[in-house]
Amino acid sequence: MNKNPMSTNRDNQHNTEGLNSERTGFIRSIICEDLSTDKYGGRVHTRFPPEPNGYLHIGHAKSICLNFGIAAEYKGLCNLRFDDTNPIKEESEYIEAIKEDIWWLGFDWEDRLYFASDYFEQMYEYALKLIKAGKAYVDDLSAGQIREYRGTLTSPGKNSPNRDRSIEENLDLFERMRAGEFEDGSRVLRAKIDMLSPNLNMRDPVMYRILHASHPRTADKWCIYPTYDWAHGLEDSIEQITHSICTLEFENHRPLYDWFLEQLGIHHPQQIEFARLNLSYTVMSKRKLLKLVKGGYVKGWDDPRMPTICGMRRRGYSPAAIRSFCKIIGVNKFNSTVDIALLEHCVREDLNKTSQRVMAVLKPLKVVVDNYPKDQVEQLDAINNPEDLSAGTRKVPFSQELYIEQDDFMEKPVPKFYRLAPGREVRLRYAYFVKCVNVIKNSKGEVVELHCTYDPATKGGDAPDGRKVRSTLHWVSAAHALEAEVRLYENLFTKEKPDNLDTDENLKSNLNPQSLKILKSCRVETSLAAAKHLSHYQFERLGYFCVDMENTENKLVFNRTVPLRDRWAKIRKAQKKR
Ligand code: ATP
Ligand code: MG
Repeated sequence: MNKNPMSTNRDNQHNTEGLNSERTGFIRSIICEDLSTDKYGGRVHTRFPPEPNGYLHIGHAKSICLNFGIAAEYKGLCNLRFDDTNPIKEESEYIEAIKEDIWWLGFDWEDRLYFASDYFEQMYEYALKLIKAGKAYVDDLSAGQIREYRGTLTSPGKNSPNRDRSIEENLDLFERMRAGEFEDGSRVLRAKIDMLSPNLNMRDPVMYRILHASHPRTADKWCIYPTYDWAHGLEDSIEQITHSICTLEFENHRPLYDWFLEQLGIHHPQQIEFARLNLSYTVMSKRKLLKLVKGGYVKGWDDPRMPTICGMRRRGYSPAAIRSFCKIIGVNKFNSTVDIALLEHCVREDLNKTSQRVMAVLKPLKVVVDNYPKDQVEQLDAINNPEDLSAGTRKVPFSQELYIEQDDFMEKPVPKFYRLAPGREVRLRYAYFVKCVNVIKNSKGEVVELHCTYDPATKGGDAPDGRKVRSTLHWVSAAHALEAEVRLYENLFTKEKPDNLDTDENLKSNLNPQSLKILKSCRVETSLAAAKHLSHYQFERLGYFCVDMENTENKLVFNRTVPLRDRWAKIRKAQKKR
């Protein structure tokens, strides 16, 4: 793979900042303890093990930052391993996309790219070993019967009538399962543990099922496939992983993983569980995200409204902003939901430092400056980034006909509206004071054009006589500005915790109909003509925007990454007051 697919990846090498030492305290103390007792010969080796059945989302970013970050911090290694044990759901499209996203986030697996399917033979050998030790058996019960025999949290399980098959018979049947003699679902291999265990995972879990399905990597070599519970711990063991960091729902699978590794007597990583990331106003399960894509509710995995890494990239989030978010939220043991405003805050902080300021008008209203010479054009100096003066200045053209924002004018201004109104004077950024002298309306009574006068003495934005104006507006020169399409985004869901998304009806009732607004006849500064895909800007007073992938020379398309107003600052203030 080309490991540098994204031209905007500004900072691929910063792979050590993904975690906050204090907030990963419990993980670090386990690792420190293991280092001090020399449990793994001083090694720290982690892995990120995605299942290639969808695109990565911001929750995965948390796990990526954690695993690669821990490895970097302890001068260890982190593998990328595709957990491709389920032949039905995996697609090679996902594999490439996952690699691209991890690389873009700024992490490098070097030469350690692995596939669980490469271990199928080894896993099979391990299964034979368990059968020979009398620790696994072939069962003919149907899936429904197995469920029934399993019992519940409050009732014990029941032994299968096949549980006491002889080792010879088990070996024979298991080999014939592999050879393809039996139909899908007709038999399984199960671990022989304890049907009375209070932990349901220990009640003779299934290790192999028959599935006559072609696998993207092993093709038709196998017609039995390992279950997740059987395979996952073995994968970590085979790769000599020292610390298997996973999400909380696997906590009560740990005794099972431990049991398998102990019975086999093979390398035994330390599993450590942490809480998965949930984000408000969105969903994080790949199954639900796939539904949004397949159902056409969004325009693909990289729709800028999606919580996927590629969606966020297209929306204009930088890898540094995502890493900074993961660092701030930290890692803990309790499931909770993080406010999406915090993510946007991190994005804004990052863009504030790095974005060039430009002027753009989203809903144009024409302004004619009556006393400005008709054919004159002045090139005025505008500051590129007040946060970074080394970014310099640029020229913006000023002429008799301009556009301002429709929202910046009110014919009958309400209290506290200080922007343009009949008879009122305001400042045009980097230019002059202008005063509205006439309002032109169409036959429907809508305001279509304003006439103003300007004061030449206020060039650069201040009046020599000291008179003040109460607002400064952004604007573009009508003759020079370029037409552009601008896409504004809001949360994908209206509910903080979208629930019950199983039917299309329910899904629809949770979706935010305002999540995408397309404005087709916006006007932007000339300097944006040659802007590259994904390059980002602050449109003054409007927010941070980036150039969409659909942008061409003939059609400019921008996405609003985030508006300027920081909801998070407000939420924080309110939290502090409480
Ligand atoms: P999903 O529920 O989205 O399908 P998953 O756990 O099935 O997620 P995997 O591809 O198996 O997805 O995930 C790879 C790694 O990412 C796992 O180690 C998992 O623990 C971690 N991960 C997945 N979702 C989250 C999340 N929301 N927060 C933190 N880590 C996550
Ligand atoms: Mg998973």
